[in-house]
Amino acid sequence: MKLIGAHVSAAGGVHKSPENARQIGANAFALFTKNQRQWVAKPLEQDVIRKFKASCQLFGFGPEAILPHDSYLINLGAPETDKLEKSRAAFIDEMERCQQLGLTLLNFHPGSHLKKISEADCLSLIAESINLAHAAVPDVVAVIENTAGQGSNLGWRFEHLASIIEQVEDKSRVGICIDTCHTFAAGYDLRTETATDKTFAEFDQVVGMQYLRAMHLNDSKGKLGSHLDRHHSLGHGEIGLDCFRYLMQDTRFDNMPLVLETIDPELWQQEIALLRSFIPA
Ligand SMILES: [Zn+2]
Ligand SMILES: [Zn+2]
Repeated sequence: MKLIGAHVSAAGGVHKSPENARQIGANAFALFTKNQRQWVAKPLEQDVIRKFKASCQLFGFGPEAILPHDSYLINLGAPETDKLEKSRAAFIDEMERCQQLGLTLLNFHPGSHLKKISEADCLSLIAESINLAHAAVPDVVAVIENTAGQGSNLGWRFEHLASIIEQVEDKSRVGICIDTCHTFAAGYDLRTETATDKTFAEFDQVVGMQYLRAMHLNDSKGKLGSHLDRHHSLGHGEIGLDCFRYLMQDTRFDNMPLVLETIDPELWQQEIALLRSFIPA
């Protein structure tokens, strides 16, 4: 089954997000479990946890359909010790929040070397950060998002993702979220069915499709290989609709959250309906 949704608001508390997803016709969603621009958040209240779980159950969102995203401040490959420790503690807190909410996936951006350490050293720090989080919190899968390669962000080449996974001890608890906009901006073509097929064949060869646990479905304002992280509404950007039609027709993308992070929330309901119209009967 295709699990399609969007990164919905959790304003007023995480327990509000399932209803926001329901209202746009989604059967999957993403959310922040705390303010994504702050380091520290107060612990989730028991009442909020209970309401979140009840609402997910009411609307039929299982943990396989929900993709929490971590704070933008976290850099699990930070070259400086104080920043790295702060990031690792915050990441473990994010994982604990997922666990408390009964969620099994945590989506995050791998990290940046900030031109202070080598790519290889940064990738090793990221893998070590994941190992530490695994040791601290049970059950939750660390889902690494590929990036556009803006600035010194790693994770834009499939080889970066493979290198991190290689150094993670518990491979059953590491996965990948492929963001179509980031993939395209990183230089992997998605403009036609043939190009999309070739890009996923390369992903399978370098990383392995068995690690794909989620996707972000975004068109791109930036051109192929631009390294710009600029999302656009589906069909309005440089990628176009062929890629999204391909994804909806291929069962390898079943049973994982397929999440819109497109720029106009007013269009999400239509975009979800459009994606569903591509699914073969
Ligand atoms: Zn994304
Ligand atoms: Zn992005």
